[in-house]
Amino acid sequence: MTDLNFDPICLTQSLVKCPSITPEDAGALDIVQEHLSYLGFKCTRLPFSDKNSYDVDNLFATIGSDGKHLAFAGHTDVVPPGNEDSWKYPPFSATIEDNKLYGRGSEDMKSNIACFISATHKFLIKNNNNFNGKISFIITGDEEKLAINGTTKIMEWTKKNNIFFDHCIVGEPTSNKNIGDKIKIGRRGSISFFLVVKGVQGHTANAHRAENAAHYLTKLLNNIISKPLDQGNSNFLPTSVQIATIDIDNPAMNVIPEIAKATVNIRFNDIYTSHSLTEWMQNQINGIFNKDNKARCTFTVDANAESFINKQGELTKLMTKSITEVTGQNNEPEFATDGGTSDARFIKDYCEVAELGIRNQTLHKVDEFVYLKDIEELHNIYFKIIENFFSKN
Ligand SMILES: [Zn+2]
Repeated sequence: MTDLNFDPICLTQSLVKCPSITPEDAGALDIVQEHLSYLGFKCTRLPFSDKNSYDVDNLFATIGSDGKHLAFAGHTDVVPPGNEDSWKYPPFSATIEDNKLYGRGSEDMKSNIACFISATHKFLIKNNNNFNGKISFIITGDEEKLAINGTTKIMEWTKKNNIFFDHCIVGEPTSNKNIGDKIKIGRRGSISFFLVVKGVQGHTANAHRAENAAHYLTKLLNNIISKPLDQGNSNFLPTSVQIATIDIDNPAMNVIPEIAKATVNIRFNDIYTSHSLTEWMQNQINGIFNKDNKARCTFTVDANAESFINKQGELTKLMTKSITEVTGQNNEPEFATDGGTSDARFIKDYCEVAELGIRNQTLHKVDEFVYLKDIEELHNIYFKIIENFFSKN
């Protein structure tokens, strides 16, 4: 086999050069597998199919024997670059300039995968491949889109094959001002409501013979945003209700519209579940529409992520200790639950999981980049975490 480069910056560049826009893999999983195989990992490709999704390829890789089991989870897919002309450098060129590495996926989350591979490489060399336990990589090709054939199915597969984990680190970009100053220990949930109000169409001059769907919808929307659902709690921000779309689609100024639609997305904390929010929405509707109305409101729901919180345990303690040892920063990292959802939601039922990665600043944007020194720092922190995890003390 040709000599592989385990430098975390070079490895990030190799991964960024694969235009792995979901569900394309473009060779990204091969690069991960090639490096892990070289280190002695047993690699298993897990392509999954489902009638509700495109096919997705995934990778599970493991090394070691009995003892504590540490897993690293991540995704090699990226979101589309958008208008490529707006980018300073082609989005898959992985150009380095001014101590920054540019490219789609550099922050979210190829640098994080590269750092964990490099840190594992360093750890295995230092210990001559002798350590008490197991290290595994759970890498999916679909986190950014439907995520039906991704981490959730890898986790089911591990359970069927009697593979159990003690702890898992998800390499999403979580850091804020400095690497390691923020760890995510949970996430808010997300639910979308697609509301359809059906009234009675008519002439705007004959309103008494019609029932304006738009008036009902605006009243309903006004009510649901009129007061906050909660104030949040020690672990979570307040639940956020956002009107994402309003569609009346009526081209005529003298026609009372029959149909008015809206989409409402709610990012919710652990005070709610998608079930309780669906009830809440039904109550809001019942408050406006009654049997005497000629207008009706129906809705469909897309609930793909419940909120969750991992109580701070052994893993977060070990991460905190390792971060302090590397950075010298005395303040404890912030334990947060903000931002969008992540694949940690599929892992939380299997083992203690926390998210730690590069600084969260340009993901999904034009000119996404990471600082080279941040890559070095994260690599050092991951190495320290692995070392502390398997140390006998
Ligand atoms: Zn990500």
